[in-house]
Amino acid sequence: MASNWVGELIYEGKAKRVYRVNDELLIMEFKDEVTAFDGARKERAPGKGRLAAAQTVFLMRLLSKYGIRNHLVDWDGDRKILVRGLRMIPIEVIVRNYAYGSFLKRMPLVKPMTRFSKPLVEFHLKSDELHDPLITTDDIIEAGLTRQEQLNEIMGIALRINEILSNYMVSRGLTLVDFKLEFGFDKSGNLVLADEMSGDTMRILINGRHLDKELFRRGASALDVVRAYEEMNRLLGIS
Ligand code: ADP
Repeated sequence: MASNWVGELIYEGKAKRVYRVNDELLIMEFKDEVTAFDGARKERAPGKGRLAAAQTVFLMRLLSKYGIRNHLVDWDGDRKILVRGLRMIPIEVIVRNYAYGSFLKRMPLVKPMTRFSKPLVEFHLKSDELHDPLITTDDIIEAGLTRQEQLNEIMGIALRINEILSNYMVSRGLTLVDFKLEFGFDKSGNLVLADEMSGDTMRILINGRHLDKELFRRGASALDVVRAYEEMNRLLGIS
């Protein structure tokens, strides 16, 4: 189903284009492209945009059922979603269940894929130039990005999301290694989950095999990524 939503292009990022519909709403269009290393590696990936949009829609709707407020309004059934426009907090919130990726780089004393005693929540500044550096909660407060209470709320929501997603993944035979979230504020100052939830922003394994963008970081082709996302969608029960 093609959408008849119209908007003015206001931003083009690595994975999505953002269009402004009006004061309240944005369209986010998922690109048929896969990128890694802050855009240094990039390939066309026909079909990926729809698969990632479908993952985001499915997971955000799942979270809504558990009362997690998020920006999703509608889906065109293809590569576009309609979302509430927010004042974004320029940080990436990462939740980790197993030791992987940049965690291992900064903490080589832990063996890869060690399961943590409890999920870890960490914050990175959104900056391609600086390669999204790890930042402390004090850094965030001092820079005026959020207040302490809001940061506590973000951590609580991130952990709740992890519980919901991990349980769902386990029920489907999958392992949720880690994932990234972004949050923004709506006009009333409420915290709202934003951006996307897809194989681009989560590490998901089936019997130790990646169904996410890690494949591309490790040299697989864009076609391999599209096939993995198709498999993820089948396993998650996403149409
Ligand atoms: P990047 O900027 O990292 O290359 P994308 O290609 O995913 O990322 O671009 C999407 C942009 O839209 C990101 O900057 C993200 O923070 C922003 N965004 C996501 N959801 C919303 C929202 N509800 N309101 C405003 N901006 C949003």
